Amino acid sequence: MRILIFGPNGSGKGTQGALVQKKFGIPHVESGVIFRDQIRKGTELGKKARESIDRGELVPDSTTIPMILARVQEPDCRKGFLLDGFPRNLPQAEALDLALGEAAMSLDYVIEIVLARADAKKRIMGRRLCVKDNNHPNNVNIRSIEPKEVGGKLVCRVCGADLTTRADDQDEAAIDKRHAIYYDKEGGTLAAVAYFASKTGPDAPEIVQVDGRPGVEEVSRSLQEKLAT
Ligand code: AMP
Repeated sequence: MRILIFGPNGSGKGTQGALVQKKFGIPHVESGVIFRDQIRKGTELGKKARESIDRGELVPDSTTIPMILARVQEPDCRKGFLLDGFPRNLPQAEALDLALGEAAMSLDYVIEIVLARADAKKRIMGRRLCVKDNNHPNNVNIRSIEPKEVGGKLVCRVCGADLTTRADDQDEAAIDKRHAIYYDKEGGTLAAVAYFASKTGPDAPEIVQVDGRPGVEEVSRSLQEKLAT
């Protein structure tokens, strides 16, 4: 099962992605997580990526495309993958499509979580990260996944671990830049969605659109229903 998941930053894409990953038992390949990992380890790739990430800009395609294409060719991705955060623009979509075609692989689903820009921004600013598990969602602006309060301190609602914020989540200018990239239908992420949506023939993926406005559980239910059919 090969799946792409799209949604603006703040749409709950990471959370839904984790659920989809569990349902199909495939690796969850998140470009942002790979970059942050590389930054933490202080690698050359991390150093290259850091400046762009802190400015809310895309890491250059010359770094990102080979990194992701190599990742989806690793042995654990033979049974499939859920690709999250890539492709983010039209050149990345074309490069992925070409690489999959060359490897005689096709995509099964392209999931798009649809959310208005203003709603997405509010959610980003409320996002909190569990230091123990990246797949534990916490958000001070979404009631259903509000962190727990223990001794006057907010902690992870799932496991009680400490919470942190991502620097780029609290920077409004960076959020606006990231959203400008996502909502750009000419060459940005929505152009990448349209690229796959316009594919025809036996290799064309099924396009699954879900409304991102309801709570996590409702979005998840509607997504699961659509994936099951
Ligand atoms: P994310 O965790 O998906 O929000 O990604 C965090 C940051 O990593 C983004 O704001 C970009 O700077 C960088 N990044 C993640 N995915 C990509 C991509 N496909 N292309 C370029 N940069 C990316």
